[in-house]
Amino acid sequence: MLQTTLTCKKCGSTALRKNGSLKGEPKYQCTACRYQAVFTPAAARKAVQYAQVEQLLVERVSQRAIVRLTGVSRPTIVKLAKKSAHQPTPPSATEPAANAGVG
Ligand SMILES: [Zn+2]
Repeated sequence: MLQTTLTCKKCGSTALRKNGSLKGEPKYQCTACRYQAVFTPAAARKAVQYAQVEQLLVERVSQRAIVRLTGVSRPTIVKLAKKSAHQPTPPSATEPAANAGVG
């Protein structure tokens, strides 16, 4: 099943209808609260990729390796690296990454 369930970011309703497009991305409007935005699965995928990139940056993986592993372009990785450099490192790191298997 390729059907993706999109939910409104404001009220959580799934009653969305297509409402034109923005820069080629389909735009949706929530019929419950009239909130409208681009709800693309691609955006969610990118968010996951970026989180992965930031995790790899924390582990001091080289940028070229990150490009290979995640498919995120190098300029984007540089941008994320600069962004994360300004944030204080999280005190978490609860579990040590067991056998990442990156050769
Ligand atoms: Zn809504």
